[in-house]
Amino acid sequence: MDAPAEESGASLLGRTLAYANKIFDLPRQLEALPDHRQKPEIPAEVFAKSLLLLWICRLPSFNALEALGRQGWGRRFLRHSMPSADQLGRHAAMLDVPGLRGVLGGMYTRLSRNKVLLPLRGHRLAAVDAHEINSSYKRCCPDCQTRQITVKGQTRTQYYHRAAVFQLIGPGFRLLLDFELLGPHEDEGAAALRLLQRVLDTHPRCFDILLGDGLYPTPQRTTGQGGANDGVGLANHPSCRRSPCCHRGSVWT
Ligand SMILES: [Zn+2]
Repeated sequence: MDAPAEESGASLLGRTLAYANKIFDLPRQLEALPDHRQKPEIPAEVFAKSLLLLWICRLPSFNALEALGRQGWGRRFLRHSMPSADQLGRHAAMLDVPGLRGVLGGMYTRLSRNKVLLPLRGHRLAAVDAHEINSSYKRCCPDCQTRQITVKGQTRTQYYHRAAVFQLIGPGFRLLLDFELLGPHEDEGAAALRLLQRVLDTHPRCFDILLGDGLYPTPQRTTGQGGANDGVGLANHPSCRRSPCCHRGSVWT
């Protein structure tokens, strides 16, 4: 039973990559990302494409990606052997993040022109929320957040990263448009406001109503009695575009 499942997964991945190539010209855009290294052994686009595969296939770690690479997996798309987990980790820390945001912005523009991003009941919706993206007991960096975890009576420090994520949502689609890492001692709301300000500067008309949860600083509540996970909504008014936290707009109900 495993073989057909693997074939089906490979076929689905192949169609996804073909779509990314045809609609977004994604491989060429990843190849155009700047590389600031001196005399690199592996071209930068190999790392960008490898990380794209990691994300599309929802693999849990660089080690899982490296293991699949040892089976020859992904070589056709990468036009290169899969980098090691250590190489992927080192390069991920040097990625050109503004360039990647530009790639996402280009996808948004293309999907808008292709009439894929349709409104829901006449409203273009967006959502912002924070997600934990990795954790480790062994590895850390100056930007890590920390927490104490007790396992079998032993307390250990765990290092992790969270990011506020901005998505456009509608009937049949979700498009991740931008994201912002939380600082070491920062709460979700502060990172979300930076994120919203950048989205409003870059794509000021990409949404009408913003959905978030009750942790965000000033939005008007729409449901419940004030619990942390109550839904909230902000309208994208001109005053919001100047400062996303200044306006209590109309709400999504
Ligand atoms: Zn870190």
